[in-house]
Amino acid sequence: MQELAKEWKRSGIRVALVPTMGALHAGHLSLIKHARQAVSSSGKVVVSVYVNPIQFAPNEDFSKYPRDLQNDLRLCEETGADVVFSPSDQVMYPYKSEENAPALRESTYVCEGFLSQSMEGVTRPTHFRGVTTVVNKLFNITLPDYAVFGAKDFQQAAIIKRMVRDLNIPVEIITAPIVREADGLALSSRNRYLSPDERTQALCLSQAIALARQNVSQASQDAQSLKADLKAFIEKNPSAQVDYIEFFDPETLAPVAKVQHGVQIALAVFVGKTRLIDNATL
Ligand code: AMP
Repeated sequence: MQELAKEWKRSGIRVALVPTMGALHAGHLSLIKHARQAVSSSGKVVVSVYVNPIQFAPNEDFSKYPRDLQNDLRLCEETGADVVFSPSDQVMYPYKSEENAPALRESTYVCEGFLSQSMEGVTRPTHFRGVTTVVNKLFNITLPDYAVFGAKDFQQAAIIKRMVRDLNIPVEIITAPIVREADGLALSSRNRYLSPDERTQALCLSQAIALARQNVSQASQDAQSLKADLKAFIEKNPSAQVDYIEFFDPETLAPVAKVQHGVQIALAVFVGKTRLIDNATL
């Protein structure tokens, strides 16, 4: 992959990377379309499909995360991607093996230290370090001019942009809007974990966002009390449990006390055992 990318570079061909963990859905495909738009027909669109072990904590769903490479390849081809980069763990983390002495194992990580402290970073303390590290590795392997991320993972996109700025990484980050089901549920590879009943209850995330929006248009609202209202609204569903609801500035991710137009809402909710996230600008 890196040799191919170098060859493209030497020929002046522009490259757009779409990093994914596979089990592709229409949300991922929209990123591929954004990537194509960025480099036009003369450029190359690379989709990486890799379930990155170091962004999962031991208690998370790494081993049962859905994997369906044959279907992913078909979807990438239909959507016009040029290359799918689907490395093995052995390729990405060759020294990680228990057989290797600690002195030989990988010991270099990329850590963003500020924006990673809130929301997802609280519940998943080592998650973003895994993400920024693997995204750097993917950048170094595929040498992209552009990389496309979904607004679905709003905090992740903000952290990647900060990392690129702080480390002078010569990649332009493009953020693509959230793709939703007709009824409002944000598409996610994890939606396939939901039972039919949980699938119905999962609507509470987008409904809570709609409720927050209504409140904003009425008057500027106290964030704490609106959070409590939304939590009660969500937990009326017997399988739903709020992990966090946050109102914050979309640029700095700093929490706000008053919920006004332009404020970002993000929330994580367990529906049964499945943890779902959603967000929107109000
Ligand atoms: P994942 O495979 O879940 O790691 O996601 C790979 C990329 O797809 C990330 O940049 C996500 O933000 C993006 N993505 C996932 N779901 C959606 C969606 N419903 N709409 C837009 N982008 C998405």
